[in-house]
Amino acid sequence: MNLINKQSINKHELPRLAIFGAGGLGVEMLALLTKRPCANLVGLLDKSGFVFDNKGLELDNSIESLIRHKQVSAIDNSIQSDNSIAEFLNLYAGQLDAIFFALPNLPNEFIPNITKQIINQSSFSGVIIDALKRTTAVKMLEGLNKELKERNILYLTGCGATPGMLTAAASLAAQSFVEIESVKITFGVGIGNWQAYRATIREDIAHLKGFDVEKVSKMTEEEIDAELDAREGILELVNMEHADDIMLEMAGICDASRVTVGGIVDTRNPKKPISTNVQITGITYQGKRSTHSFTLGDETTMAANVNGTVLGYLNAGIYLRNEYCASGLKTAAELMPKFAPVKMKVLTQV
Ligand code: NAD
Repeated sequence: MNLINKQSINKHELPRLAIFGAGGLGVEMLALLTKRPCANLVGLLDKSGFVFDNKGLELDNSIESLIRHKQVSAIDNSIQSDNSIAEFLNLYAGQLDAIFFALPNLPNEFIPNITKQIINQSSFSGVIIDALKRTTAVKMLEGLNKELKERNILYLTGCGATPGMLTAAASLAAQSFVEIESVKITFGVGIGNWQAYRATIREDIAHLKGFDVEKVSKMTEEEIDAELDAREGILELVNMEHADDIMLEMAGICDASRVTVGGIVDTRNPKKPISTNVQITGITYQGKRSTHSFTLGDETTMAANVNGTVLGYLNAGIYLRNEYCASGLKTAAELMPKFAPVKMKVLTQV
């Protein structure tokens, strides 16, 4: 038995979590929660509808329905809706401790706009976590810091793999140096088919020469298929507009211009084409230049590295609320994720 299960935590002591988005990452998060129970999943939504149970959803049944039907509206007791985010918030925002955005961020303002909706039109007060990738989107969220504080919401952004785990690793590695010369992130992702992670792959295509977020948002599935066919399923990404740069700058580690991100995505093979790693080069106080490296194991999938980190930051967020009533916008470069689940200090009656 692993240490987490050994703690035998009652799920009603854990934060009540809603996941917005039930595609690739959303469904994998349900599977992860069965093995790493850091939250009581009470709500789930996608484009087709939403489901809520204040005692906690049956994870195995929900996963089974989603694998079979691909839609939240197929889960028992769900409600069909073509405006699921607004309807869900209207009904249940006050009964949540945390929200994970497993949504596409196309266009760049999609998730920042939902955040404004939560701030201005809902009673939610708790922790929001995302795995946002674009620098522009994180800058938009930074502009909401004051309102987040006023509404007593703690928003942790860029908490996936990159940005996320690798940015936090760069932040840790920086401690050996007095100046950071470069942070170079290189990732390898292998997935069996692109439809398993539609938003992720669209957002990656938006970084290729001749594409942008606007153009990719409007492409049909057939056009995406054709683009991938022309590249034999391989996306080679260089000098990406990735929020690791602004996150490391906001954390005071180095200028954003010293951070580069690139990678290779194989959309037809679950094996990683290259190992994901971050190299941090700096100068020590004795004047020596050196490079620290952090490489992820090739057997770990994108879902394990993204969702595992999201849960770690969810635990960190609940801890910061419990101990310090923290609010406002923070990034994965400013905080460390916590592995073990954190119980809610003030328990809610069910
Ligand atoms: P996906 O396309 O597989 O799933 C998206 C889900 O959002 C679907 O369930 C869809 O129904 C739902 N959705 C879309 N529009 C909606 C709306 N208007 N209302 C309600 N629900 C809506 O997405 P994915 O590939 O799992 O990616 C999710 C996010 O994770 C993306 O933004 C991606 O960039 C991010 N991501 C981050 C990292 C990282 O390391 N930081 C890695 C991979 C993915």
